[in-house]
Amino acid sequence: MVDDRLRTPGAVRDAERYTAHNYHPLPVVIASAEGVWLTDVDDRRYLDCLAGYSALNFGHRHPRLIAAAHAQLDKLTLTSRAFVHDQFADFCRELAELCGKDLVLPMNTGAEAVETGVKVARKWGYQVKGVPAGQANIVVAEGNFHGRTTTIVSFSTDEDARADFGPYTPGFTVVPYGDLDALAAAIDENTVAVLLEPIQGEQGVVVPPEGYLPGVRRVCTERNVLFVADEIQSGLGRTGTTFACEHEGVVPDMYLLGKALGGGIVPVSAVAANADVLGVLKPGQHGSTFGGNPLACAVATEVVRLLATGEFQRRSTELGERLHAGLQSLVGKGLVAVRGRGLWAGLDIDPTLMTGRQACERLMERGVLAKDTHGSTLRLAPPLVITVEEIDHAVAQLAAVLAG
Ligand SMILES: *Cc1c(COP(=O)(O)O)cnc(C)c1O
Repeated sequence: MVDDRLRTPGAVRDAERYTAHNYHPLPVVIASAEGVWLTDVDDRRYLDCLAGYSALNFGHRHPRLIAAAHAQLDKLTLTSRAFVHDQFADFCRELAELCGKDLVLPMNTGAEAVETGVKVARKWGYQVKGVPAGQANIVVAEGNFHGRTTTIVSFSTDEDARADFGPYTPGFTVVPYGDLDALAAAIDENTVAVLLEPIQGEQGVVVPPEGYLPGVRRVCTERNVLFVADEIQSGLGRTGTTFACEHEGVVPDMYLLGKALGGGIVPVSAVAANADVLGVLKPGQHGSTFGGNPLACAVATEVVRLLATGEFQRRSTELGERLHAGLQSLVGKGLVAVRGRGLWAGLDIDPTLMTGRQACERLMERGVLAKDTHGSTLRLAPPLVITVEEIDHAVAQLAAVLAG
């Protein structure tokens, strides 16, 4: 007899029993994956339309990334930053070049990159801009998602993310996303940064009005404020360009990167900025035991090399058109609205039909895995290695779910 813990219901039950319930996963137990396809413990196959919230932009187990990881595992995995290792310089130089910035600072998770950005912006404010001690403020947007640390949830507008985690870190001003006048009005002489997602991922792939990001850039330059772009989910090819800011020709002062930078293998995040900004940090003022470790650098350097070819950005642009055309054809047939860029889409399902969760459960039964965000909103973000046929398949399954 097969041990029932090795099959879906038993494994789901045990996962619930022994973990905090800070997630509500779909009842599917994945055992292996390749490219865009996942296989569960009962040998059912699913098309991955979430891609680890964009941490798997290159698909599962991309051969070049796996090869880089294997080679590094056989040589050196960790030194700490107390010593220099032979994977470090290439990673930092190549990522800095990809970003068009002087310097990078490697960390591990996205939230750590955001925390690093906040710290650097404040120090820059005191040391370069001349803000009086303890007075720095940062302007952020409603509907933001920047991670889960106590400081970051302090300026979240999502009650689930924020409630009962106070006392909250002061020094943040929240303004409506996409409203340039409100943003400009919130900036005062002690503002050190504007921190924004160029497209709000968790909020449901919300694209700001055209002209907003260039306006933010202009206001930040005029008022001597750093423009910090959280490209952790929107960046690294997801929207058809290396950075989502590029769609409007905008270059922020600081990029926050994560998710896909680790190739779906290891957590790797980074801050990229010019020397006049990142140069404010001196030894002992910031750090991380695992940040910039040899395994992370080996994998992430290969990620940067994949992106440097432009192939994945092109795929996202071309296949994104196919995806969005397919989804647009479902507006009025169960979908109320479709947003997004490249291979990234937020869909509002007619709330009288079903919740986002129910849609995901029905898609799962049809072999497609996706994730709801708020209420009846679904987010699709397949790996950028998806094919035209696979996109059409996913859209057809969604059409069938919406048709009931
Ligand atoms: C996921 C995400 C983060 C946080 O990344 P973690 O690795 O989960 O800490 C921050 N910002 C954005 C825009 C994200 O999508």
